[in-house]
Amino acid sequence: LLRLHKVEKHFGDFVALDGVSLTLQAGTVTCLVGPSGSGKSTLLRTVNLLERLDGGAVYLRGEMLGFTRSGDHRRPVPKKVARRQAVNFGMVFQSFNLIPQMTAAENVALGPVEVLQVGRADARRQAHELLSRVGLADRVDHYPAELSGGQQQRVAIARALAMKPSVLLFDEPTSALDAELVAEVLAVIKELAMEGFTMLIVTHELAFARDIADEVVMMEDGRIIESGPPDRILLNPTTERARSFFASVS
Ligand code: ATP
Ligand code: MG
Repeated sequence: LLRLHKVEKHFGDFVALDGVSLTLQAGTVTCLVGPSGSGKSTLLRTVNLLERLDGGAVYLRGEMLGFTRSGDHRRPVPKKVARRQAVNFGMVFQSFNLIPQMTAAENVALGPVEVLQVGRADARRQAHELLSRVGLADRVDHYPAELSGGQQQRVAIARALAMKPSVLLFDEPTSALDAELVAEVLAVIKELAMEGFTMLIVTHELAFARDIADEVVMMEDGRIIESGPPDRILLNPTTERARSFFASVS
């Protein structure tokens, strides 16, 4: 479904992504782990076109994102095309990023109304359905400040789903939450995994990764240093670096 081919991202002289290649099969869950600064967030932002790549390519269903090829050169696609391509990705951030002046339902309905041109009534109905699905049927008219962190993050997940994305990207979805709120968010993500959503999840929750991932990918210094089935990567890593990293976070 999604293929990254030798993706590079530079910030000035600094190489944040150094030739990252990765394939996500449809319906699979990939967990991305690695130390702070290894490039995990940058990778998600590059995939969903928030950052321009400096080399390599990202393909969704075989279509190159962000660029068109003309002979040996490639040109950025027009803004309108980039926006259409970006809609394929639903992003959930560590810090929820809800709009504080809007209720839960309004936050969820905003994208469909503004971007997908869904009618307001339909968008509202769909927002209610999605909020029920994440266990918030009784919170649709609450404002973010009236919700717990775990509830806000579940609104953010509903908001991502409302855009009917092909791939869901999560960037440390539980690391801003108190311990007792982590489980409710992980349970929602696990349900989505069982429903067959294709997901790329940056997480430090190794037990969770072991539970739901089809593949675990470890990054360091902008490169993938290990990848494979969770049991092998987490229990029996081949590199010393991965071994010491897993020991430090678990
Ligand atoms: P963490 O676990 O702390 O979230 P991460 O693996 O997500 O780390 P990134 O946020 O992807 O790491 O950052 C990778 C590297 O790129 C870091 O060294 C960071 O300082 C650098 N970087 C990221 N964004 C920018 C930017 N806009 N300008 C300059 N450097 C950046
Ligand atoms: Mg990060």
